Amino acid sequence: MIRFQETPRPRQKLATRVLHSASGMDARTGASSIPLYQASTFHHASLENPPEYDYTRSGNPTRQALEDTIAELEGGVRGFAFSSGMAAISCAFMLLSKGDHVICSEDVYGGTYRLLTAILGRMGIETTFVDATDLDRLKAARQPNTRAVFLETPSNPTLKITDIAAVAEWARKHGLLTMLDNTFMTPCLQRPIELGIDIVVHSATKFLGGHSDVLAGLAVVANEKLGQELKYLQNALGGVLGVQDSWLLMRGMKTLLARMEFAERNARRLADWLTQQSSVARVYYPGLPEHPGRAIHERQSQGYGAIVSFDVGSGERARQVLDRVTVPLVAVSLGAVESILSYPALMSHAAMPREVRLQRGIGDGLLRYSVGLEAVEDLIADLEQALDAG
Ligand SMILES: *Cc1c(COP(=O)(O)O)cnc(C)c1O
Repeated sequence: MIRFQETPRPRQKLATRVLHSASGMDARTGASSIPLYQASTFHHASLENPPEYDYTRSGNPTRQALEDTIAELEGGVRGFAFSSGMAAISCAFMLLSKGDHVICSEDVYGGTYRLLTAILGRMGIETTFVDATDLDRLKAARQPNTRAVFLETPSNPTLKITDIAAVAEWARKHGLLTMLDNTFMTPCLQRPIELGIDIVVHSATKFLGGHSDVLAGLAVVANEKLGQELKYLQNALGGVLGVQDSWLLMRGMKTLLARMEFAERNARRLADWLTQQSSVARVYYPGLPEHPGRAIHERQSQGYGAIVSFDVGSGERARQVLDRVTVPLVAVSLGAVESILSYPALMSHAAMPREVRLQRGIGDGLLRYSVGLEAVEDLIADLEQALDAG
């Protein structure tokens, strides 16, 4: 159940602010959407007084409206828009230097795992992956050169829960930078900066965009010093979001709360139904009473989200379900108006050795359902026939 809470800043609730934020209306003309400043450069009327915007990699008014909107929604001081979630995450990691050490959730997004192991490792940045649900193990991973902690909660695809405030407090005590990938929850359901996290990153390709039609990444920082550092890196590295995609993303975000609320209601119904099916060995959803992280999740979030993972027991049965479903897209990605069914073993986690995958609970029978806005009766009937077919 989504519980909209008062945040420390707000005069108004998030549902209102999302519509009347920087992306709500063009301040200059009153236009009901922000104009597309489809320009790469800006005229210097006077060389002594350079214009506010001078080149679109460094800044663009359309992208700025999006960046201000995500900063407001996350309760941070400054937002940044990138060409993809991985561009946002890569840029944030460029705050680190050779010789630094990172502690990272072990079931982090595959692309983040690849960045840390195959690329940053080569540049002398070392990572220890830990089960972040276990605070003692996380603490034990700290080394003299540890600089940062990177978290994902709920994690992908088994929706494990990390205590955000506890990690943030410990990290602050040791001077560590904290980063959190908030893609699965969105600021509608979880605002990590209010729990002490320094940088929130998003694949806005997912719930924020919400329509499977734009690839984008966002980052929000908790303080002005990090804001200046990330601004420098965003401009220096250049992976900024284009003007048209910035506009599309703002358009998608206007319905974020309504979409999340509806999708979550569907997800709860689907998760409950799945727990009653004898052909389903296990269901992973933070809203289920038996979920081990439920109490912590309820403390730090305002809802359970719209991703439900479930294990049908074997790779053969998983393939049958994937072959037989008729409503969801069978695809990589999540967080869209339409339901998307993914097969982690062959899609998001294909690069992971099978033993490692199994150790992390990602069995050959595991499916990940991103619940969309269809009638839930149709989603259930469709899954019922797909499961029966086996
Ligand atoms: C998809 C995803 C990413 C990567 O985002 P892209 O927009 O595909 O680059 C990062 N983190 C999570 C949790 C994701 O689901």
